[in-house]
Amino acid sequence: MARPCEARLDLSALRHNLALARRLAPRSRLMAVVKANAYGHGATTMAGALEPLVDALAVACLEEALELRDAGIHAPILLLQGAFHPDEIPLAAQHRLWLTVENATQLAWLERATLPEPLHCWLKVDTGMHRLGAAPERVAEFHQRLLACGKLAGPPVLTTHFACADQLDHPATPQQIARFEELTHALPGARSAANSPATLAWPDSHYDWIRPGFMLWGNSPFAVPHAEADTLRPVMTLVSQVTSLRDIEPGEAVGYGATWQATRSSRIATVTVGYGDGYPRSAGSGTPVLVNGHRASLAGRVSMDMISIDVTDLPGVALGDPVVLWGDGLPVAEVAEKAHTIGYELLTRMPARVPRRVVIG
Ligand SMILES: *Cc1c(COP(=O)(O)O)cnc(C)c1O
Repeated sequence: MARPCEARLDLSALRHNLALARRLAPRSRLMAVVKANAYGHGATTMAGALEPLVDALAVACLEEALELRDAGIHAPILLLQGAFHPDEIPLAAQHRLWLTVENATQLAWLERATLPEPLHCWLKVDTGMHRLGAAPERVAEFHQRLLACGKLAGPPVLTTHFACADQLDHPATPQQIARFEELTHALPGARSAANSPATLAWPDSHYDWIRPGFMLWGNSPFAVPHAEADTLRPVMTLVSQVTSLRDIEPGEAVGYGATWQATRSSRIATVTVGYGDGYPRSAGSGTPVLVNGHRASLAGRVSMDMISIDVTDLPGVALGDPVVLWGDGLPVAEVAEKAHTIGYELLTRMPARVPRRVVIG
């Protein structure tokens, strides 16, 4: 029998979340972003489930794309940062990967490349995030050179990325949309701007392609309630079990550093999940955990392989009882907030040690 600590994956939730993105952007094609091992869920499993339902996939780099091709994924795959080396460009063409071009060096590599077949290209423009993309005054020149280089399968898709779309009243998003309009309205080719928060909350940003990632995994990207985002269903539920139980007296402490002290006679449940399993060490005492479906609180520091939970107020807790760390019934964002990070990070950094198991296909 294996250690009872696993990430359960609900593929019906994935389809539900995808359907919401489709319903919100009915006239757009959908590119599912599966970079970083599908935000920790398992890239090949998730891409396999998504492939028949989406128009394209996106990843961060060639290695991630080739892992999907090796697993038999045939859908178009966009390399979101483009090539990191000129040798990647013919490989992208050979494996039918779509290439982002976002700076002058990448453009020059493409102009000089010898390709086995024409390439689909996305031209990224910097509308204000200032991380990637052609500067506004060079967009027309880049576009013209891409059309002239003779290596593309069609006009490049014009694309940009938002810095603040998760803040529902932030002025940066309408400003970025206006700049994108201004830079692209006169150019041929499809357009794409929307990540998950923009798919959910900024319909003017949908254009021809939406590019949701985080929302597909079933978590709201917003820090405040949102009618649509709050109907998403988590794909991953991190589960473990109570593996030890003890009663301690008032004044006694729990865990490394003795940081949590009982103020009353307390029942402490030990659960086999720790920071070696992706549960954040920065989550402090009081972080919520579900034991038998009921809320209880973390007591003391997170260890590498274990945590301790105060179950004094939950009568009848026994060895083997199920514990949910996040997912169904406990949004990962709530745990992330206690750990001073965001749900994106907790999901994405889930280590290989934790088995991923599809429980609902
Ligand atoms: C990661 C990424 C996305 C998806 O963002 P989410 O917030 O996870 O939906 C979309 N576009 C680009 C360029 C990205 O890097």
